[in-house]
Amino acid sequence: MKKAIFPGSFDPITRGHVDIIQRAIPLFDEIVIAIGINSNKKYMFSLEDRKRFIEKTFENKSGVSVQIYKGLTVDFCRNIDASFILRGLRNPADFEFEKAIAHTNRSLSKIETIFLLTSTETSFISSSIVRDVIHNQGSYRHLVPKSVVQS
Ligand code: ADP
Repeated sequence: MKKAIFPGSFDPITRGHVDIIQRAIPLFDEIVIAIGINSNKKYMFSLEDRKRFIEKTFENKSGVSVQIYKGLTVDFCRNIDASFILRGLRNPADFEFEKAIAHTNRSLSKIETIFLLTSTETSFISSSIVRDVIHNQGSYRHLVPKSVVQS
């Protein structure tokens, strides 16, 4: 069985994340969207809200679930028996960052990282820009799934 995790902060989930997950569904039997807890990071949305937004977005998709984890991503993969890490790439900066992490994860485990290239329609979207727009009372509904706007 091909099981992948899609790790991230999802603060909040955006249409960019949704696009990557939807395109990965036919590639894997199971995808666990894994919200990583980093105690040094300040988040705009609570962990409960971030989890709820994702669950609502994928409530009708079998084979997609949400979990929360702490610690190394490769350890979490081992704990839940996932062999793949799914990540999205938007630009050269993402590539450099992701390359170092993927190499490190390969040095720690046999887990493969699978990259999907962003879609042209969502390539500019990032959670940090969404947070900035929200913070400044801008319109952000076109950047996120409905579950985030209805919060
Ligand atoms: P992190 O805190 O690990 O950066 P994010 O929640 O920001 O987590 O992102 C999780 C994953 O989603 C990363 O692989 C990131 O590159 C990818 N991603 C985020 N936005 C987009 C987008 N617009 N298109 C494609 N991939 C994206």
